[in-house]
Amino acid sequence: MHPRRPTRQISVGDARTGIIKIGGGLPDKHGNPTTPAPVSVQTMTAGYTHEVEKCVAEINKLAAAGADIVRVAVPEKKDTEALREILPRVRVPIVADVHFHFQRALEAVEAGVHKIRLNPGNINDRRQVIDVIQACKARGLPIRVGVNEGSIIERRDKQKRMKELGQVFSEHKHGYLLAIMITKLEEYLDIFYEQDFYDVAISAKSMDAQVVIDAYTEISKRFDHPLHLGVTHAGPKETGTIRSVVALGALLANGIGDTVRISYANDPVYEVEDGLELLYVLGLRTRKGVDLIACPTCGRIQVDLFTLVQDVRKQLAAKVELPIKVAVMGCIVNGPGEAEGADVAVFAGDRRGIIYVQGEKVANVPEEQILDRLLAECLAFQDRVKRGEAKLGEKKVDIIPPDPIGELGSGFDKIAAGNVEKVHALTVGKA
Ligand code: SF4
Repeated sequence: MHPRRPTRQISVGDARTGIIKIGGGLPDKHGNPTTPAPVSVQTMTAGYTHEVEKCVAEINKLAAAGADIVRVAVPEKKDTEALREILPRVRVPIVADVHFHFQRALEAVEAGVHKIRLNPGNINDRRQVIDVIQACKARGLPIRVGVNEGSIIERRDKQKRMKELGQVFSEHKHGYLLAIMITKLEEYLDIFYEQDFYDVAISAKSMDAQVVIDAYTEISKRFDHPLHLGVTHAGPKETGTIRSVVALGALLANGIGDTVRISYANDPVYEVEDGLELLYVLGLRTRKGVDLIACPTCGRIQVDLFTLVQDVRKQLAAKVELPIKVAVMGCIVNGPGEAEGADVAVFAGDRRGIIYVQGEKVANVPEEQILDRLLAECLAFQDRVKRGEAKLGEKKVDIIPPDPIGELGSGFDKIAAGNVEKVHALTVGKA
């Protein structure tokens, strides 16, 4: 993991919604130091903004799922009018997504929205972009300047600059696209800078994960604005998750990216859940709720693990708010090892579940009782942590595993005796 790239910082929200900061690390406009804010998770409503009741319900559902910021489309005047009713009823900062009609941006600003997303490439004329900038400046609102691979248009006067950049990226697989994206960003940002407006976040999306990685990497070297990461039109959830997470994960691991939106053709609640999980896994956000580990199962499986894991996941998501590490393992091959590292664990054996809490065996129950007993132990452990009687990640007792693997035994004794190579060869072959 590389350290976060320092950027300017922008703030989104108000006293009622709370303020979400994006980026940071460079001094603010008064010269005061800023600290990089936690990477935030954004999503976008899937329904019509002018259907006020449904829109409020969807925004609140997304906020409950963990969205830090929610974007809404405002293609028509009835959508920006609806914002006046929606904004007082939600508790998360709202971004108005504007394409083609600069008046929608002005109306959204008037309605009290917290940020504007604008693609200057599809606003007719420069004067209209300046009007939006001035309206946001007057209210202290930031703007995301977004270029999408699909919506960038070449202009004659920029072709010279594109050629220059084309030379810079000539060895690059996506050289032409990088040249055009950066040229457009330079062109757009010049309009903002001429208005002395720097409260800008940048996005440069594509449906191609490799283009996204390359584009943001190059942009991060050239601009000091916070970056909104995303793969656009990523497809259905089943493949879109991989497309998004590969690109965003690579960038975030390199310290690039200050806010993320995972997008695919499905309920945006999943976008929020997947975005948060990505940040948890990379250690960029403190996990809320259970960290669930489970084995993939194999021919050694001793219980119906797929069902058990899903039941455990659903129940714990509803009942546990602390980041308790829970392991659900199918047999004794890797069960003891994972149980040892988890706060609460079960590994199966002979249609039974052996349950451990911080390395201490607390139960050995038949398969049909595993779910209830595991949940009970998780809740009891959570209560003890809350009362200060236990600490997350603290192991009390070494697990003594059974000795099932034949002549080499479980491995633990052999490791202690210095016979590590044989044990490694055996366990690698087994699981
Ligand atoms: S060997 Fe590993 S994957 Fe197979 S059931 Fe046991 S713990 Fe699960």
